[in-house]
Amino acid sequence: MDDLLAGALSRLDEAAKHVEVDSEVLEKLKYAKETLSVRLSVRMDDGSRRSFPAWRCRYDDTRGPTKGGIRFHPGSNVEEVTTLAFWMTFKCAVMNLPYGGGKGAVKVDPHSLSKSELERLSRAYVQAFAGMIGPDRDIPAPDVYTNSMIMGWMADEYSSIVRQPSPAVITGKPLPLGGSLGRDDATARGGYYLLKHLEEELGLANSGKRVVVQGYGNAGLHIARLLHADGYRIVGLSDSRGAIVCEDGLDPDAVQAAKARGGSVTAFAGGGVRVVDADAMLAIPCEVLVPAALEDQIHAGNAGSIKARIVLELANGPVTPEADRILEGKGAIVLPDILANAGGVTVSYFEWVQNRQGYYWNLKEIHERLRTIMETEGRRVWDMRESKGIPMRTAAYAHALERLASAIAAHGTQPFFIG
Ligand code: NAD
Repeated sequence: MDDLLAGALSRLDEAAKHVEVDSEVLEKLKYAKETLSVRLSVRMDDGSRRSFPAWRCRYDDTRGPTKGGIRFHPGSNVEEVTTLAFWMTFKCAVMNLPYGGGKGAVKVDPHSLSKSELERLSRAYVQAFAGMIGPDRDIPAPDVYTNSMIMGWMADEYSSIVRQPSPAVITGKPLPLGGSLGRDDATARGGYYLLKHLEEELGLANSGKRVVVQGYGNAGLHIARLLHADGYRIVGLSDSRGAIVCEDGLDPDAVQAAKARGGSVTAFAGGGVRVVDADAMLAIPCEVLVPAALEDQIHAGNAGSIKARIVLELANGPVTPEADRILEGKGAIVLPDILANAGGVTVSYFEWVQNRQGYYWNLKEIHERLRTIMETEGRRVWDMRESKGIPMRTAAYAHALERLASAIAAHGTQPFFIG
């Protein structure tokens, strides 16, 4: 079995030691319900045709329609998609959203495509998976290297296919097409609310507040902004091209402006700013480390040098199981992805609710509802950690597993087939 999926399933096995759950439930949750692999054939601007492997996985729909993003990345593969769909299943359960877990991807370097090629690829994806997705069946959203513009094209394509406006088929859309206020920074904001809610328990209230952020895209930029505005000091930032550190603190917007001009955070120059390699940045002294890039970035090879006491996982699966054990041995507390980055899917859920009711909330309502859910579920996971003496990640999986198990039981003894 693929290492990434095996690592994810090992976390389920670990959680199962701490809650009473039937072995049939575990068996059900070890396999994806439905995965479709296709090749998308797309006309390039020069008249040639290229084909791209693409996937959509509906991992488990016991608790509702499946929900999960679509990633455009040259490294994507079916195992990664399946693992991400597994994580979505547990993430939606932790947050008590009425969803199962899904995920999709296209193996492509989107930066190598023109805008019109990207649009044709996005529409081709929806044509291929139109029978699988749907507002009551499977609801995609943005993920790495996809954005609201792409979601808009996809919603438009789906609406053409079903011959009626169907905004609830996809979330993360532009506002004029039924997007929600607050979706752009929701992932980071959810993580921020969680961190603030547990600031005392995490020992952050009266300590230094130095932060390192790995990955400077949607999640990384917004968490840096929110923490900077709250008095935290951003001492390290990185993207796929390199890393910068500055003991006196970095201004997230100034770095973003330099990145927009020069293509990387390393284009930012200022007093005391040093360009370092990725692992050197992870090793600098700080209180909070925020992985906000890709999976498996913190591994047995670099976890030992990390000095942060708190790891706020905004990326999905950034810490390998071996690195988890190393960090735990050092006394670090990892706020796990399925809880810490769930603000994104939570506001996606709000978008879907607003689309279906045709009534839109203001930004204050979105933020208040998001804060309430992050605090409620964050507290439950923290309390389980305390009462059972287990890591935060195991507690989050155990909390989700209890919900999934009771939903599986409530379906009764007949085989459960939808679609
Ligand atoms: P994004 O495409 O906006 O940004 C990704 C960033 O990571 C880019 O700055 C890229 O340069 C950087 N990066 C890539 N490889 C890197 C490496 N090896 N080292 C350092 N930086 C690297 O993507 P995003 O939406 O911000 O997603 C980031 C992570 O957050 C992913 O794991 C994604 O699954 C997760 N996530 C995102 C959302 C969301 O709503 N955007 C929700 C939940 C989880």
